[in-house]
Amino acid sequence: MDYRVALLAGDGIGPEVTAEAVRALNVIADRFGHTFAFQTGLVGGIAIDETGDALPEETLQLSRDSDAVLFGAVGGPKWDDPRAHTRPEAGLLAIRKGLGLFANLRPVKAHRDLIESSPISRSLIEGVDLIVVRELTGGLYFAAPKRRWNTSRGRRAVDSLKYTEQEIRRVLQVGFDLARGRRKQLTSVDKANVLESSRLWREIAREMAEENPDIDVRHVLVDACAMHLIQQPRDFDVIVTENMFGDILTDEASVLAGSMGMLPSASLGTRKVRKKNGGLFGLFEPIHGSAPDIAGEGIANPLAAIMSAAMMLRLSFGLETEATAVEAAVDATIASGLRTADIVGTGAGRDSVGTTEMTDAVIRRIEDPARSRVPRPL
Ligand code: NAD
Repeated sequence: MDYRVALLAGDGIGPEVTAEAVRALNVIADRFGHTFAFQTGLVGGIAIDETGDALPEETLQLSRDSDAVLFGAVGGPKWDDPRAHTRPEAGLLAIRKGLGLFANLRPVKAHRDLIESSPISRSLIEGVDLIVVRELTGGLYFAAPKRRWNTSRGRRAVDSLKYTEQEIRRVLQVGFDLARGRRKQLTSVDKANVLESSRLWREIAREMAEENPDIDVRHVLVDACAMHLIQQPRDFDVIVTENMFGDILTDEASVLAGSMGMLPSASLGTRKVRKKNGGLFGLFEPIHGSAPDIAGEGIANPLAAIMSAAMMLRLSFGLETEATAVEAAVDATIASGLRTADIVGTGAGRDSVGTTEMTDAVIRRIEDPARSRVPRPL
């Protein structure tokens, strides 16, 4: 089967890690007889430099015309001037909104061989397997008014947190559907003791809990959730929450997985991919940013980007076997002891490998599935 993939690499390590995901996908294409046609588009800082716009219209159109979007990361110190009229991150917000991708799925698993890379104790994180559904096109990052101005008494700024019932319902529904296929437990996270928008969120979550009696629903304040996520991470199955709360909680949750470089994500809406077994059109990206501190050094961990590609295979293209082949190859590579610098762990006494070497090892295991079944040191 042929698939069109918009490749939006962005800035910093974005191009480095997406190139590795493309290499892994091309091996999947060879092994399973598919064609992935990658078409590149500008987004983020590089798009500002070349066109003056963080999300040029051609990039949005290219994405709309594709079956999925593979995204790297945007941003960096070069574009950090707060007085600039646009910022790279505006391109990311605009593409999510422009493509109607309102649900951001962020699975967090503590890989048993990476537990030592986490600063949290083994007894707390062993067996962690949760997924955060972050609302992506509303909430604090989007609503108006959002501006900054000068007054006679100094500078002022305002951001707004607004939600409609329909926006809250549709993202909670994604959470309920996911929970039904997992351990049937959903945690709705809000700040209902302070925010009116959160009180509406909680009211709707309660109504939906009654409509979905097979799912065990808990309501947790975001500050308490931040604490429980570290103290009892195994208690969570599916977490659904507002845009900014989800942004912050998932960075925190990345510590459970050992590194930002290990966490993939999928952003989905309602558009279907018109292919046999096609799922939902989506944008797939590692949760990490452009990591300017290591960009260009060839040491970025490519696994979050490669696992994002696996999510694309599963969720947009319905290619479950192919997605599992990628994930098994990643698991076996980790089990073999190979580590990039971010997951080498303290005092582990191991050398780390670079971005390309890590991908090479994953690719060898995709090409030769026997290596994925029997993890062994390279
Ligand atoms: P970051 O995720 O880029 O980096 C945080 C830390 O994690 C850094 O020390 C970095 O070296 C490390 N890291 C991240 N990804 C890694 C990987 N794959 N392998 C090894 N180490 C990795 O976050 P930041 O430093 O706060 O932000 C840098 C820039 O990225 C900023 O401009 C920010 O706005 C932007 N950003 C973009 C996105 C996105 O495009 N989705 C997300 C977050 C931040």
